[in-house]
Amino acid sequence: MLSTLRFVLFTAVSLAMIFAAVYFTILNTYKPAVKTYINGEFIGYFSDEQQFDEVYNDLVAEKQNIDENVKVYLESEPTFEQSYIRDSLLEQQNVYTNLRAEIKTEYTIYEVVVDGEQQMTFTAEDQADDYVEKLKAEVSDIDANVNVEKVAELKDITSTERADSILANIVDRNKPVEIPEPDPVPAQTQYATSVYTGMVTPAINGTRVWPTVNRRINCDYWGYYGHNGVDIGGSLGTDIYAYMGGTVIFSGWDYTGYGNCIKINHGNGVITIYAHCSALYVTAGQQVTAGQTIAAIGMTGWATGTHLHFEVKQNGVSVNPWSYLNGI
Ligand SMILES: [Zn+2]
Repeated sequence: MLSTLRFVLFTAVSLAMIFAAVYFTILNTYKPAVKTYINGEFIGYFSDEQQFDEVYNDLVAEKQNIDENVKVYLESEPTFEQSYIRDSLLEQQNVYTNLRAEIKTEYTIYEVVVDGEQQMTFTAEDQADDYVEKLKAEVSDIDANVNVEKVAELKDITSTERADSILANIVDRNKPVEIPEPDPVPAQTQYATSVYTGMVTPAINGTRVWPTVNRRINCDYWGYYGHNGVDIGGSLGTDIYAYMGGTVIFSGWDYTGYGNCIKINHGNGVITIYAHCSALYVTAGQQVTAGQTIAAIGMTGWATGTHLHFEVKQNGVSVNPWSYLNGI
C-alpha cells in the first residue's frame, strides 16, 4: 500500500516536472509578436508596433539621405495581427527589404528648360535658378526657365560638372556669328573687279578731278594690310586738288597718322581725305570747287616719302578709291 502511494506520488512529481520543463521551453522559444501587413502584402513579424515604426523611420532616413526634401509615405496604413513567433525566425526575416518595397517616394525636381528643351535636372531649386540666371546673363534673349515636377524616382540628376559643360555649350551655340576679316586682296585684283562698282554718287556731282598732277601710284589700295587709300607720288609742295566740289570739314593736324590733312564732304555720305600734306590752303567750313588747289604734297604724319594719300569714305567706311578715280 505504501509502495503504491509512493509510486503515484513519484509519478505525479515526475509528470509535473516534465510539464514544467516543456512549458518553460515553449515560453523561451516562442515570443509574442505582431504579424504585419501593408496593402495585403505580408511584411514580417515585429516584436511590437513601436519596432515597426523604428524600421520605417530608418527607411525614411535612408531616402532623405539622397534628397532631404523627399516625401516618403505608405499607400495604406499597416495592419497588425497579434501572434507568436520563434525567436530564431524573428532574426531571419527580411523586414527591411519587404518594407522598402512598399514605401512610396515623391521627389520634387527642378528642370532647366532652354528654348523648349529640357537641359538639366536638379533636386535643389536654387541650383536650377542659378543656372537660368547664368544663361540669361551670358546669352541675351534666351528663353530659359525652371520647370517644377513631382516624380516617384530620381534619375538623371545633373551633376555640377555636367551642368557647367551644358551651360558652356549653350553659350557657345548662341554666340553671335563673327564675320572673318577679309584677307588683303592683291591690288591688281582690286583694280580689275572694282572699276566703278560700289560707287555712291556724291550729292555734289559734276566734274571729277584727279587730285594732283602726277599719276604714279606708290602704294595701291590694300597694297599692304590695312592700307585703305591710294598713295599718289609727287614731290614736296606739288598742288593737291579737290576731287569734286564740296565742303571742307577738316583742315589741320590729324593725330592718327594722316599728319596735315584735309577732309571734304561731297554729300550722300561721301568724303575724300588728302593726307601727309606739307601745306593746307583751305579751312574747315569752306566751300571748294572741283579741281581747286586745297593743299600741297608732303610727308607729314606716318609717311616714309613725299606722296598724297588719297582716301574715300562712304558713310564713315573707307572704300576702294578706284571706284571714284577710274575714268578721270
Ligand atoms: Zn597711304
